Amino acid sequence: MGTTAVGQRAIHPGRIEVITGPMFSGKSEELIRRLKRAQIAKRRVACFKPDLDVRYHRTAIASHSAQTLDAMTVTNMEELKAVLMPMIDLVEVVGVDEAQFFDPSLIGFSNELMHLGKRVIIAGLDTSFTGEPFAPMPELLAIADEVVKLSAVCMQCGAPAVHTQRLGSSQSLVLVGAAGVYEARCRACFSPWADEHGSEQMELPVSAGSGR
Ligand SMILES: [Zn+2]
Repeated sequence: MGTTAVGQRAIHPGRIEVITGPMFSGKSEELIRRLKRAQIAKRRVACFKPDLDVRYHRTAIASHSAQTLDAMTVTNMEELKAVLMPMIDLVEVVGVDEAQFFDPSLIGFSNELMHLGKRVIIAGLDTSFTGEPFAPMPELLAIADEVVKLSAVCMQCGAPAVHTQRLGSSQSLVLVGAAGVYEARCRACFSPWADEHGSEQMELPVSAGSGR
């Protein structure tokens, strides 16, 4: 009685699904597949992506293959909440792509949405090109009802790939690109501190995953 915070909880909680893996592992494709199935089931879907990924469309999520789905581009979690909450009663499924670029408040917000009865489907890189967990993904994996960890194909040897290899010497964690800037690599071929020629040493980014 009188528990205001819990008062908004739905009788039937929703669920949190996380799709993760390295680049080129089909995360966005799997997110799009799930959202399209939800749409076919007449569920009302809202999908968000951070305003960092300029590789194809500004208002759609795009996988490296040709699949796209309308998505709202937001600059940060505040804007995501500001866009979503006014229409929250109309939305049943919330998709988030490139979730590694959102700040850690995505974790608590995903829980809130789940308690409101929403199905939350999150896709994002599990590790950065330095091979370290990419905030806020580790916590999202921990609280998820379902985790799908995809592998890519090592572009050096063809083995299953769990790493994203950065080619060249830029140290920006938020530079988002596609083929040519990054490669999927297996553990044996992954070389996080060397450039594509295996020579130049790179320094550890000072504030990896600082949410900017
Ligand atoms: Zn390999």
